[in-house]
Amino acid sequence: MPKSCCVTRCTANKLKNPELNFYKLPNRKSQPLRRQKWIQAIRREASAGRMGKLWDPETEYVYVCSKHFVTGSKSDDESHPDYIPTLLPHKSVNKATSLLRLQNRSKRNLGVTTTALPTTENPPEPTPDLPDQPTTREERDEARRERDEAQQRCKFPHLTSIIDCFEIRIERPKKLKARAKTYSNYKKWTTAKYLIACHPSGCITFLSKGWGCRASDVHIVRQSGFLSSSYHKPGDQILADRGFTLLEDFAVLGAHLVMPAFTRGRKQLPGKEVEESRVKSNIRIHIERVIGVLKGRFHILDGPIPMRLVKSLMDERQNKEEATIDKIVHVCAALVNMSSSVVS
Ligand SMILES: [Zn+2]
Repeated sequence: MPKSCCVTRCTANKLKNPELNFYKLPNRKSQPLRRQKWIQAIRREASAGRMGKLWDPETEYVYVCSKHFVTGSKSDDESHPDYIPTLLPHKSVNKATSLLRLQNRSKRNLGVTTTALPTTENPPEPTPDLPDQPTTREERDEARRERDEAQQRCKFPHLTSIIDCFEIRIERPKKLKARAKTYSNYKKWTTAKYLIACHPSGCITFLSKGWGCRASDVHIVRQSGFLSSSYHKPGDQILADRGFTLLEDFAVLGAHLVMPAFTRGRKQLPGKEVEESRVKSNIRIHIERVIGVLKGRFHILDGPIPMRLVKSLMDERQNKEEATIDKIVHVCAALVNMSSSVVS
């Protein structure tokens, strides 16, 4: 029996198509992961009796013909698109587009030689079905940004603040109690923690005083004065991470706290929630960038901040006078606000 292609609706075999190459399905023992990828790509249904499962043949004499590879032959480079077959009847992949993408990719990683690409003698066909597609990277980024912004506006039209906490390394306190209050298991260092809020435009709108990092996010929001009607009007939306379980606290002010969907105890999120979570994390990037700029630009915040500048922070805010570390952080934040926005 001649070698024949196992892809559904492909009728190629070595006898009829001597010009094609036939590649064996990767071996179950030596390349189990790659084999899974191939099987998932080919997506052939298992025979009766194993309904709903993917076909996974017992025999090793199973072939995929070279028509299903972008460059016309398989590649053993894991990052190459032809590591797995992609041109398959159930997928609407345009060969020309895939080729173009591959060429652009290899242009970007100059020096990394991939397998033989079609040369000028065999140019990829133009893509007549995509006339207005943005071509350069800048245009694509621009288009994506516009789309995301439009999405953000329609999903969260009254978004006023994005909140998060960040930590700054401080010198290790001598007193054990103070050390316990400031030791961060996550950072493996003693740190002071600040609540920061920014507007979707990237402007810092609120910065709390510093707390020992053992204080929870919820505690800091409640004690910092951020939960005040002078900051929030009814109908405002505030975006926060999962740790800020403060729905009721904001509801009292008529504001709405928006958080990413909880996945605990659920196997999978419905598509709508996945999409919403994606938009939320896109917006949350703003606050992460702001924190990144704040810490990246002012190396005084790299710490560790000497104890004498932190002292009154340790007094659990009993001391009326503002701690020097707080003044430093606030001045840095003000300077960030005066520079050009992080949101382009
Ligand atoms: Zn085939």
